[in-house]
Amino acid sequence: MGGSTAGLSAALLLGRARRSVLVCDEDRPRNQSAERVQGFYSRDAIPPAELKGIARRQLEPYRSVRFADVSVSAVRRQDGAGFVASLADGTTCAARYLLFATGLYDDLPPIEGLAPLWGRSVFGCPYCDGWEVRDQPLAAYARGRGGFDLALLLLGWSADVVVCSDGDAQFSPDERRVLEKKSVRLIETPVVGFEGFGTKLKAIVFSGGTTLARSAAFVRVPLRQASPLPERLGCALDAEGSIVVSPDGQTSVRGAYAAGDAVTSLHQVSLAAASGTRAAIGINTALVGDGRERLFEAADIS
Ligand SMILES: Cc1cc2nc3c(=O)[nH]c(=O)nc-3n(C[C@H](O)[C@H](O)[C@H](O)COP(=O)(O)OP(=O)(O)OC[C@H]3O[C@@H](n4cnc5c(N)ncnc54)[C@H](O)[C@@H]3O)c2cc1C
Repeated sequence: MGGSTAGLSAALLLGRARRSVLVCDEDRPRNQSAERVQGFYSRDAIPPAELKGIARRQLEPYRSVRFADVSVSAVRRQDGAGFVASLADGTTCAARYLLFATGLYDDLPPIEGLAPLWGRSVFGCPYCDGWEVRDQPLAAYARGRGGFDLALLLLGWSADVVVCSDGDAQFSPDERRVLEKKSVRLIETPVVGFEGFGTKLKAIVFSGGTTLARSAAFVRVPLRQASPLPERLGCALDAEGSIVVSPDGQTSVRGAYAAGDAVTSLHQVSLAAASGTRAAIGINTALVGDGRERLFEAADIS
């Protein structure tokens, strides 16, 4: 379930292993507002839709991989073994193993003007977008330990970093001293808006009407699972909200696997691809194990 990077990477491995796979995808990848996928080995700066198009085309020769471009609305365990998924088009599908490659949802703060700039000049991840805005006036919209860490991280891309904490920054005296020493300004005045020209950030607007000119901002955004289905099925989540998986991608529900952003706090396309491959090997290994069990059962009978 989920046919973006992690799901398609898993489908490729399983298709090549001659397994029967149904990829269900509602096509709302996390980076859908981004112009380019940066930092993906051999595909640096490729538009997300183009990358997905290549992945889908390369799956065409593997006839055991099929697609349902719809949302999965429910999943339940099947008596005996396996799962049944209900799709939004009214059909159902039974499967012995299930892979959640459903990604995360960015819960953007409800600040005027922020949403249209998201992924274009207001970002979540300096590793993805820092290079494109290097040496420019940057803002870190964040507070607490995470905000402090983000500000220090951003200094790798620009010497002009201002922390806009939108209220009390919740920094310790030591953290404040470090930022001052590194010439990082801190503005704790409440933020009321992000002002842009098209998709380009121009300024951050504070209560009282003052503004701060910035070319780009990095925001620490609260994240949650994009799909409620892993939790509804009983998959355990950790304290950060990631699905708990074993090294081979198995969740706490036997037969249900998970991969991609949904299982980690490190969010990169290359890592999602690798994690999809890893879970697919886990599923294929389990299928081989099932076959071996049946062979032994047959040997017992004869
Ligand atoms: C703005 C932005 C820019 C980014 N830029 C970069 C970058 O430049 N480089 C980089 O390496 N990383 C970047 N990332 C991170 C990257 O987007 C993620 O690491 C990657 O998309 C994770 O892939 P995934 O397959 O786990 O999840 P996703 O790509 O989010 O895909 C999940 C898929 O599952 C589908 N889905 C969810 N629920 C259901 C359901 N119930 N039924 C059917 N389908 C479902 C969704 O619609 C979606 O298609 C960026 C992230 C953001 C937010």
